[in-house]
Amino acid sequence: MRVQMLNAGWISSPAMVWRQGEEPERRLRFPIPSYLIETDTERILIDTGLNPDAVRDVAAHYGPQASFMELEQEQSVAEQVDPSTLTRIVLTHLHFDHAGGLALLPPEVPIVVQRREWEGGHDGETIRRNFFYPRDYELDGRRLDLIDGDHDLLGDGSIMLLLTPGHTPGHQSVRVGERLVLGADVAHFAATLDDLRFPAFADDFDAQARSAKQLRGMRDEGIVVLPGHDPDVLEPGPVELG
Ligand SMILES: [Zn+2]
Repeated sequence: MRVQMLNAGWISSPAMVWRQGEEPERRLRFPIPSYLIETDTERILIDTGLNPDAVRDVAAHYGPQASFMELEQEQSVAEQVDPSTLTRIVLTHLHFDHAGGLALLPPEVPIVVQRREWEGGHDGETIRRNFFYPRDYELDGRRLDLIDGDHDLLGDGSIMLLLTPGHTPGHQSVRVGERLVLGADVAHFAATLDDLRFPAFADDFDAQARSAKQLRGMRDEGIVVLPGHDPDVLEPGPVELG
């Protein structure tokens, strides 16, 4: 099994949006990772990064309320993997920086999402609270595999999807092998697992703190837990399975 980190864009914005307690004038630029997991029989994409149309004009694509962010992208995910070879796509959650690239990928490739995330993504109040943009996750005939809770993706224990809610209603992290967890947005930064300084918004802060403590416990056992958007930690290229 091999894991590769891709860079699927950058976000720049006031830091306090993403980490509580920051000075109002401080800005932050951080990467948006996607991951390609290759096994003998599968090529699985974890998250899809930014949609290039949003990068060109974020206010036109998502509305003026999104224009507090500047988006950048060197290459979309579709330019970094051969989309026709993908066997499935796992979305950790439905935010635009994780689901936005879905429209670039062939509809023959199914997506795997937690059921409560999908249902939240189709409920008006939950959409507003979570800043979801439903245009990011239109199915257009794509197969949808909804899962409930922790899930053994390939049936052999090698890739476990872990329900880690709070940031969004059905956020999930991905354990690859025994020693690596792609934590996604449970913790934007490595330090978040300890300081619990979450973004200014969440579906449920208490649930997010529980999820962070769960991943902190795994980290304390020696498992590598990758944060969602830490510019000091995330480096595109091969990821050690530990
Ligand atoms: Zn994110």
